[in-house]
Amino acid sequence: MKGSTHAVIGANTVWIISLFSGFSGNPFLLIAGAFGGLLPDLDASDAKIKHLEIGYGKGRNRMAIKPFYLPSMIISSLFKHRGILHSFLAVILVGWGSYWLFLFLSQWVSFLAQEFWMVLTLGYFSHLVADGITHHGVPLLWPWNRNIHLLPRLLRFRTGSFMETVIFIVLLLTLGLFVLSSYQSLNLSGLVLLNSSRNVLY
Ligand SMILES: [Zn+2]
Repeated sequence: MKGSTHAVIGANTVWIISLFSGFSGNPFLLIAGAFGGLLPDLDASDAKIKHLEIGYGKGRNRMAIKPFYLPSMIISSLFKHRGILHSFLAVILVGWGSYWLFLFLSQWVSFLAQEFWMVLTLGYFSHLVADGITHHGVPLLWPWNRNIHLLPRLLRFRTGSFMETVIFIVLLLTLGLFVLSSYQSLNLSGLVLLNSSRNVLY
């Protein structure tokens, strides 16, 4: 699947987490989900995550860095594409690593709450599911090197196909609806809180 589709699927995983723990309204959670959705393709020689830029400005005045360019070069030269990084083992390692990383970082960045590692890990897992419904499949049970398919042969589809475009558009819409409805309810609860505090004051 394309990087943009993986990113949108990853961001949609915030829905699932919010069913259990609610949505704090932190927009960085959506970014964490999208990032998790791109992460497994660090093993590809040329994937979206390799070219992710952090920077500002436009045209000639643009200053930017590609923080994942070098890691992607190293990882893709060490591991084959759709190998260990596309397995359950990698999901467990990412979950374990991100749990401790966010716990450590939350000392300085207070908004990096517990749900961040869950969203990142679920976003990562969503990438494997998405690749698992394509023709290629994924070696979910690595080191057993067999590609696992999550759909029967007839329903599998190709990267960049019309079906992928449909999935991308539908998930972009569901994401938009989720963000709109979440922020609307957050605003409403904020108003209720504001009104109740006014009632106390006067
Ligand atoms: Zn992949």
